[in-house]
Amino acid sequence: MRIAIIGAGIGGLVAAAGLHTDGHEVAVYERRATPQAVGAGLTLFGNAFAALDALGLGEAVREISTDAAGRLRSGQRQPSGRWLLTLPPSEAPSVRSLHRSDLHRALVDQLPGATIRRGQEGIVSSTGAPVVVVAGCEERYDLVIAADGLRSDARRRWGLDGGLRYAGYTAWRGVTTSRGHLADEAGETWGAGQRFGIVPLPDRRVYWFATRSVAPGKDDADPHATLRTLFGQWHHPIGELIEATAPESILRHDIYDLAGFPASFIRHRGALLGDAAHAMTPDLGQGAGQAIEDAATLVTLLRGSRVQDLDTVLGRYDRLRRARTRGIWRRSRTMGRIAQSSGRTATRLRDAALRAVPASFAVTAMDRLQDWAPPRP
Ligand SMILES: Cc1cc2nc3c(=O)[nH]c(=O)nc-3n(C[C@H](O)[C@H](O)[C@H](O)COP(=O)(O)OP(=O)(O)OC[C@H]3O[C@@H](n4cnc5c(N)ncnc54)[C@H](O)[C@@H]3O)c2cc1C
Repeated sequence: MRIAIIGAGIGGLVAAAGLHTDGHEVAVYERRATPQAVGAGLTLFGNAFAALDALGLGEAVREISTDAAGRLRSGQRQPSGRWLLTLPPSEAPSVRSLHRSDLHRALVDQLPGATIRRGQEGIVSSTGAPVVVVAGCEERYDLVIAADGLRSDARRRWGLDGGLRYAGYTAWRGVTTSRGHLADEAGETWGAGQRFGIVPLPDRRVYWFATRSVAPGKDDADPHATLRTLFGQWHHPIGELIEATAPESILRHDIYDLAGFPASFIRHRGALLGDAAHAMTPDLGQGAGQAIEDAATLVTLLRGSRVQDLDTVLGRYDRLRRARTRGIWRRSRTMGRIAQSSGRTATRLRDAALRAVPASFAVTAMDRLQDWAPPRP
C-alpha cells in the first residue's frame, strides 16, 4: 500500500520503519528541516520493547540503551535523601534508558534516504480522504497516519480535538556533559510541588528531570540559577548533576495533556498515532511507549491486508488502542497530581502513603502496565 505519515517523531518513525520492512511504500512528511528529537533522555519499559521486537527493531534499540536504571536502587525519596519507597534492583521492572537523539538516529537509519520529506508540512483532508496537501499540491495515498504530536493539526481537522489541559507544572530536562558515577542510586525525589528524577544513560552520563508547580508561560534567563534556588538544598547528587549540565542545553517545557480523550482515533482513511491520539503527562513514562505500541499494532494489523480491508483494520486499531491508552492517559494525570502535591498536609499524607506501600505492590502495578503483546494480524 501507499502510506503517508505526518511527523517524524518517535511514533511516526517507528511506524515508518515497520511499514517499510513489510514492503509498503511509505512517505514521511516532517515540517522541520532537520528533524531531531527534542528532549534529553527517555525511559522505555518492557511493553515498548515488545512492540519494537514485533517490528524487528528491538535489538537496534537495545544496543543504544542501558538497563542500568533497573540495576540501581530506585523508588521515591524525600529532599533530605530519606527513602519513602525503595524498589530493590531484583524487583525492578524491565526498564531501559537512552538518549532521545540516539533513538531518533537509529530509527532514521532504518529508512531509505528519500522516505523522510524534510521541511515539508503535510495537511490532511478534513474528510479523512487519504490525501496530503503539501505546499498547495495534493498527494494521494491509500492511508494517512497522523503522528503530528501533542498539538496535532490532523486531530483538529478530523473533528477529534477536545483541546489541551495544562497539567499545572513545568519540567526541565538535562543530560550531564561529563561521564560520572551515580553511586548505586537512581529514581525520583518528591518535595512540595517539586520533583527531581535521576536516570543513568549508556555512556555513564546522566539524564535528569526536574519539575515545579507554577503558572505556564514563564521562561528562565538562567536555568542553573533557577534550579539551584529550587533544588540546591536537596540531597546528593542533585546539585552536582545540575552543575555538570551545560545551561544552554537545559530544556524547559510546560506540561500539557489532552483535555478530553478522543471519541475515535480514526477518520475514514486516516489514523491518529502517538501524542496526536493520546498525549498524556509524562508521570508514568509511557508517552513514547504508547506511541510505539500504536505503531506496532497498526503495522501488525496491516500485514496481509489489502486496500479493501482498510475499514476493518482501522476499526480494530481504533478499538484496541483506545481501550489500552485511555486508562494510561488518566492514570498519568492522577500520578502527576499526587506527585506534585504542594500543601504541607497533602505532602505529608502523600509521603506517609508511599512509606506504607509495599514495594511488591508498586512492582505489580508496573508489571501490569508493561504487560502488552501485539495483536494477531
Ligand atoms: C518532560 C517529558 C518527559 C517524557 N519522558 C518520557 C519517557 O521517559 N518515556 C516515554 O515513553 N515518554 C516520555 N515522554 C513522552 C514522549 O516524549 C512523547 O509521548 C513522544 O515523544 C510522542 O511522540 P510522537 O511521535 O507521537 O510525537 P512528537 O515527538 O511530538 O513528533 C511529532 C512530529 O510531527 C512533526 N509535525 C507536526 N505537525 C506536522 C505537520 N503538519 N507536517 C509535518 N510534520 C509535522 C513535528 O515537527 C514532530 O517532529 C515525555 C514527555 C515529556 C514532555
